[in-house]
Amino acid sequence: MRELLRETADRAADFLESLPGRPVFPPVDLDALRARLGAPLPEGPSDPREVLADLAEAGGGAAVGIPGGRYFGFVIGGALPAALAADWLTSTWDQNAGLYVGGPAASVVEEVAGGWLAELLRLPADASFAFVTGTQMAHATALAAARHHVLAEAGWDVERRGLSGAPAIRIVAGARRHATIDRSIRLLGLGTDSIAEVPVDEQGRMLVEEVRDALDRPGPTIVCAQAGEVNTGAFDPFAEIADAAAGAGAWLHVDGAFGLWAAASPRLAHLVAGAERADSWSVDGHKWLNVPYDSGIVFCARPDAHRAAMTTTAAYLVQADPGGPRDQMDWTPEFSRRARGFALYAAIRSLGRQGIAELVERCCDHARRFAEELGGVSGAELLNEVVLNQVLFRFETDERTAAILRAVQESGEAWMSGTTWQGRQAIRISVSNWQTTEEDVARAVAAFRRAAGHDD
Ligand SMILES: *Cc1c(COP(=O)(O)O)cnc(C)c1O
Repeated sequence: MRELLRETADRAADFLESLPGRPVFPPVDLDALRARLGAPLPEGPSDPREVLADLAEAGGGAAVGIPGGRYFGFVIGGALPAALAADWLTSTWDQNAGLYVGGPAASVVEEVAGGWLAELLRLPADASFAFVTGTQMAHATALAAARHHVLAEAGWDVERRGLSGAPAIRIVAGARRHATIDRSIRLLGLGTDSIAEVPVDEQGRMLVEEVRDALDRPGPTIVCAQAGEVNTGAFDPFAEIADAAAGAGAWLHVDGAFGLWAAASPRLAHLVAGAERADSWSVDGHKWLNVPYDSGIVFCARPDAHRAAMTTTAAYLVQADPGGPRDQMDWTPEFSRRARGFALYAAIRSLGRQGIAELVERCCDHARRFAEELGGVSGAELLNEVVLNQVLFRFETDERTAAILRAVQESGEAWMSGTTWQGRQAIRISVSNWQTTEEDVARAVAAFRRAAGHDD
């Protein structure tokens, strides 16, 4: 066992050290990859060391350079050293973090990390929380709590009676909400027809007047606001939305997958002012905090609703022993589960409050540098106000935008994704990796200059 683990650790380190010298997105041929990994179901055993050696070569060769500093695709982040190592321990210990008795340290570490996260993100200290797979399931959990609460207010016990015959719930959400909001609504049986879509401005922010109009109707209502639009990084005006939601007695949920991390920086916290007044929040550990997949966190300002929606015992039972141990399954949609608190705990301890603020601010500084330097690339047009870590731009035509993006991707110097913005092709850069340096930014900009025909 020791030898296998040691060899694997060396392979992992080799992979990480190879990143600066290899294409960010390696040339991968799907058929070749299938042929390389595919085989008939093995009838008998193989030596684990051989299995791992082969997997490391085939899998590692096709792995995208996401952990490195020149990957700017989607909003993905890398893995901090402490978080990666803690993730290894998590698999090694193999605790079942559904119940305290399935791993006492896993339970306690979640209590501690949950409190730290609420403090970092400027959320109420007494908010309940759960560590889930990502923001998708954080939304599903938060909106289940919201569903419980708004229907309980209308005299309906949804946990017992379900949705047939229940008062209809309206979901007020911006036109630029993330697709995971819609899927959560589908999973919860509310149906996407329940969404009253609110128009947004040119950065993707909900228009407050339109929110007020949408809320000017009685009945159970949930408002979904957003911290960090995936293209522009824009923030909804939380204070005004919180006022409107409170006036209407609506539940307010905030999708803060990456944008809520602005709260961890004294310089950027103004962007989320008012978000602390929401009833629930979703945020990712695996994006900007640079924890390995999978790691999302949900917080709820109404612990009773959260617990009633998730607990596996009857909704009306209060926790028998308030000072007793935390059973995570009272707060999560899963039953058996990975002890994902360890990696979060290690990430937060290894950086501290200051280190996390610096990580967030450094990424935003790089984004601003990108915006400035791309301004000097022939034909590039910046499309967003660079308020956070996202840079959105395009070239004169959709064809040129697509061709330049492809050329940069194929250069291996950097990788970022394309998007459609206001009906036209655009390129989206997200700086969310702890390792990205000024030199990485310069290399990526140089790749754009070459692709755009500059001769330097
Ligand atoms: C990434 C993202 C999500 C989905 O998060 P997952 O962790 O991938 O489930 C939701 N909302 C926003 C704004 C995001 O950026």
